[in-house]
Amino acid sequence: MKLILKGHDERYIVEQSLMALFPGELPVYEEIQPGDDTWAVISLREETDRCHVTVEMCYQGKAAPYSVGWPLSGTDFEREGQRRHAVARCFFLAAREITGVTPPWGMLTGVRPDKPVTWALAEGKTPQQAKELLEQTYFVTPERAALALETGAKALEAAKKLDKNDIAVYIGIPFCPTRCAYCSFVSHSVERSFSLVPPYVEALIEEIRAGGRMVKEQGLRCRAFYMGGGTPTTLTAQQMDAVLTAFEGSFDLADCEEITVEAGRPDTITPEKMAVLKAHGVTRVSVNPQTMEDHVLRAIGRHHTAGDIEAAMELVKRYDFPHVNMDLIAGLPEDSPEGFRRTLDRCLAFGTDNVTVHTLALKKGSRILLEGLKIPTPEAVAEMLDYAAPVLRREGYRPYYLYRQKYMSGSFENIGWCRGDAECWYNIYIMSELCSILSFGAGGSTKMVEFGTNHIERVFNLKYPKEYTERPEKCLANQAAFAAFYETLKGDM
Ligand code: SF4
Repeated sequence: MKLILKGHDERYIVEQSLMALFPGELPVYEEIQPGDDTWAVISLREETDRCHVTVEMCYQGKAAPYSVGWPLSGTDFEREGQRRHAVARCFFLAAREITGVTPPWGMLTGVRPDKPVTWALAEGKTPQQAKELLEQTYFVTPERAALALETGAKALEAAKKLDKNDIAVYIGIPFCPTRCAYCSFVSHSVERSFSLVPPYVEALIEEIRAGGRMVKEQGLRCRAFYMGGGTPTTLTAQQMDAVLTAFEGSFDLADCEEITVEAGRPDTITPEKMAVLKAHGVTRVSVNPQTMEDHVLRAIGRHHTAGDIEAAMELVKRYDFPHVNMDLIAGLPEDSPEGFRRTLDRCLAFGTDNVTVHTLALKKGSRILLEGLKIPTPEAVAEMLDYAAPVLRREGYRPYYLYRQKYMSGSFENIGWCRGDAECWYNIYIMSELCSILSFGAGGSTKMVEFGTNHIERVFNLKYPKEYTERPEKCLANQAAFAAFYETLKGDM
């Protein structure tokens, strides 16, 4: 879609809205020529206490002009947010007029659509007022607004558990047995990069030890630990033992409430590895079948069957971890609403206390896009999710966190469901940006969060295992930045 911005430069929010409302349309900044049939002119005029936005839009020949007036007040920062909201609102309303479609999350385009609910509740608004805010200000559908109310309230509960010295720790293992068709993650197939694993584990252990010293010096507490990837269980039992031993030896875990390890792929789960996890007090194991349909498993490049998942689940069960999660994806290549139903029903039979239902996100560099694999329509994905939610509720699960990604099928969401008090707090901390996350390993993204504010800084580890292993100075520099961040906060007090 050709975009012309007049009187402002709110490119980011316009592009986000474009992607959400017109999937597949890319922004193009060129003059509109006679005969062009897909374009939008977004104009903004500002007065002292008000701004006026006009969107003239033409989509595949169908035109719709729309205007919005919006009040401006407060600090420059607040006015900037209000101006941005007016632009997004006007663009959304024009798009809705043309397409006749209201996306499930209305005009919300961010990763955390329940954030406005958390803020509203924190300000003392009632749940009903918070829900109305989503429906009336952001045009969220009543079903999604009710969902956001549950997860937004959980985020507020999580925030109350933390104090300013609390952090969470993440360790990344960027290796997998094979590459899944939907993956764009920098994960290396172990078959092809076997020789990289031992030096990677050594470098990782050094980084963990240095990080542990820094955290102690800063007087910080690790409240939650998560080991993800990739697939951490591609490591051997001895390598996993070495990494977890380094972690335990470097951090005071007296206040660490949970230790989660992803054992994503059933073909990496062995009795020896489960015994190592059990011996290290792991409180949650996450097995991620994504589907229980053999033809879908083949289509996404998994070299195992649904029967292997069942065998792996039986094995995991024997070790009696306090919590077990299973990840599923709605919208995988070759899947159908019937197939997804069968998958969910078979997963529920395992009786795990956590189930995470993702919606397929089309990622650049994934085989789905590169090879043009056939995926279910947004309507079929909607059918899958419409089946999942009531069934999970009937089985005693409730949603405890949700997030969205770019290019999701049907513009839906990923939801973590749990029974009783089985929520993975790490997931809430990271998604709601409630505390700093210190990340170890290649591609690790360390987030520094000033407690109780929106001030966040980030540093990133080197992306590829080889460069990560060869240049430990980058990790040390990141840890120095982390320490400096907390030193500055102490100075500010
Ligand atoms: S298991 Fe996860 S990280 Fe590994 S290839 Fe599949 S999607 Fe990517």
